[in-house]
Amino acid sequence: MKFRFPVVIIDEDFRSENASGLGIRALADAIEAEGMEVLGVTSYGDLASFAQQQSRASVFILSIDDEEFSSPAAADKAIAELRAFVSEIRLRNSEIPIFLHGETRTSRHIPNDVLRELHGFIHMYEDTPEFIARSVVREAKAYLDSLPPPFFRALTHYASDGSYSWHCPGHSGGVAFLKSPVGQMFHQFFGENMLRADVCNAVEELGQLLDHTGPVAASERNAARIFNCDHLYFVTNGTSTSNKIVWHSTVAPGDIVIVDRNCHKSILHAIMMTGAIPVFLMPTRNHYGIIGPIPKSEFAWENIQKKIAAHPFAKDSQGKPRVLTITQSTYDGVLYNVEAIKAELDGKIDTLHFDEAWLPHAAFHDFYGDYHAIGEDRPRCQQSMVFSTQSTHKLLAGLSQASQILVQDAENNKLDRDVFNEAYLMHTSTSPQYSIIASCDVAAAMMEAPGGTALVEESISEALDFRRAMRKVGEEWAGEANGHWWFKVWGPDDLSEEGIEERDAWMLKAGERWHGFGDLAEGFNMLDPIKATIITPGLDVDGEFAERGIPAAIVTKYLAEHGVIVEKCGLYSFFIMFTIGITKGRWNTMVTELQQFKDDYDKNQPLWRVLPEFVAKNPRYERVGLRDLCKEIHAVYRAKDVARLTTEMYLSDMVPAMRPADAFAKMAHREIERVAIDQLEGRITSVLLTPYPPGIPLLIPGERFNATIVQYLQFAREFNERFPGFETDIHGLVKEVGEDGKSRYFVDCVR
Ligand SMILES: *Cc1c(COP(=O)(O)O)cnc(C)c1O
Repeated sequence: MKFRFPVVIIDEDFRSENASGLGIRALADAIEAEGMEVLGVTSYGDLASFAQQQSRASVFILSIDDEEFSSPAAADKAIAELRAFVSEIRLRNSEIPIFLHGETRTSRHIPNDVLRELHGFIHMYEDTPEFIARSVVREAKAYLDSLPPPFFRALTHYASDGSYSWHCPGHSGGVAFLKSPVGQMFHQFFGENMLRADVCNAVEELGQLLDHTGPVAASERNAARIFNCDHLYFVTNGTSTSNKIVWHSTVAPGDIVIVDRNCHKSILHAIMMTGAIPVFLMPTRNHYGIIGPIPKSEFAWENIQKKIAAHPFAKDSQGKPRVLTITQSTYDGVLYNVEAIKAELDGKIDTLHFDEAWLPHAAFHDFYGDYHAIGEDRPRCQQSMVFSTQSTHKLLAGLSQASQILVQDAENNKLDRDVFNEAYLMHTSTSPQYSIIASCDVAAAMMEAPGGTALVEESISEALDFRRAMRKVGEEWAGEANGHWWFKVWGPDDLSEEGIEERDAWMLKAGERWHGFGDLAEGFNMLDPIKATIITPGLDVDGEFAERGIPAAIVTKYLAEHGVIVEKCGLYSFFIMFTIGITKGRWNTMVTELQQFKDDYDKNQPLWRVLPEFVAKNPRYERVGLRDLCKEIHAVYRAKDVARLTTEMYLSDMVPAMRPADAFAKMAHREIERVAIDQLEGRITSVLLTPYPPGIPLLIPGERFNATIVQYLQFAREFNERFPGFETDIHGLVKEVGEDGKSRYFVDCVR
């Protein structure tokens, strides 16, 4: 397999017709004759952005001229520049070879701290260019060869050695596609390598995911080292599956489990699959619709015991709770102090499971301290095992569905890998996708220090720059007359002007108005700055509606038509993330698009002009202005006091009438009844009911509908009828369109 990584030469004479220009070009030619590409530049311009070349290069050759050492002052300057260059590179990459190239200067002129980062000193005229080229190319190849982690290495070798296969998949390395025109298109689109690398688990030399052998196992061990855990398992069906594996490895029917009410639906599926009895911990919520942390007092063991004692099904159950599952990084970026939770519950609950689908980056930067589950120098529990499940594909460089399970053993309780693997097998396809395994492998290798730290630092610092840019725009508008407005980014009020701040600035402190979560315990929660919730005007943190309002759904529709897709949208807020894939261009475009929106809103531009695609699908809005539409929807939200309604609905007491697994089982036996929403109060749902936004399950199989939830569903029905194109999607709701063309909504309830 041949990869393209040029040798980068930085020499101000690279294009000059003088002796040193001729000399360096002779070396470049000799390197090319050895089969490597050369990229010659005369200066590096902006150092920080040039240093990004480290990801594309195989070697750097940096020339130092005699002239640069003509006086002591000039020499100091040259050394300072050299040091700056070397340290910028080493910040991100400790291994890439760097050579110095000079006429008469020698290592004597270079200070030790710089010298020790170099792989060699090239003296022009002392050896032939061909000889020097061979030694440069040797270093380059050794470096490139050191890069691939075990599984990716084995897979590239396998795909390139051209052996014929008789095993599945049936497309035989892509050949099947070539026999049909549409297949040809598929082949051309994805390319040869993707298809050659799509192999099956009969290939011995790649090892087995299902029993963790060979290169797969070596990669899992490598990732365990990088993430600083005792065991690490790659999962190729997403964290949805990772969560179910963790649960099935430790929860049996009738067991009590302690669960964050604000959890991903895969956890609720795990509750149904295992037949567990869930006892929920309730998070706070503010009126923006942002879900806050579960207060520290909820985690107190006395409180948990009290909840169990009051639970209709849990109270008679014997034994201690099997698992605690917490959404670590809530959907809006709130984190918990894991050591505080361990201190409270070690030995009380067997397994402490942190669903870190959105937090795989935290282990790689000191900024996050104890606010993630597993990492370097983190103390073990005495009795409880700590699990973290992470979606590699959400914030790191994994393909969709790339996920991993991390385990930290307790002092007195070690993971039994054989037992655990039975649960792993239960949920893992016998034909795992090898590209996903390779991406798990590579995503982990990318996070190796110092590169991983630099990547996370960059996300944090871009996220902060975005917040500062948004604030500056706001300040400028505030200076204008007649009630101008701008968007806010949710977060602490005092934000420093420069750099990455101390963690303390991001802590959620008791009673602060910006978060609106009330009296939170000290040192228990922080906000991850890379998760940015953007607040649109119209609603304040107390749930009071303003005169003017700009529902977020309209802003996100507008952004989508301009090529900016956001992660999640609430009533007056939407959410974006600064993953390690973020670029300055991306977030600056967000700022300018929001400016555009403001401009179009202030001018009340007609929708046919600013949302043409949307209007084509929904002609009802053809002649409506952007501001008028905002006004109309805002008025409805306001009249119905929707912010309070949704907050109360999520915080309302959910009464379990059956075990979730029993209620769900009624579906299989069709012992259910389709109930219209007006008749739902008091009925027991057999399905999961999840409104989008925000995508957090509202009612779980076995729970009874209360009046608040019914009121919300009636509101959603009315709203959907009035504002086609802005429908609230509620999973679990069955829609039937009657002969009169009207939609009716039902929920499958226990008969
Ligand atoms: C996305 C998500 C999951 C599921 O992860 P997938 O990789 O999409 O299967 C689990 N938990 C939380 C909190 C999530 O946000």
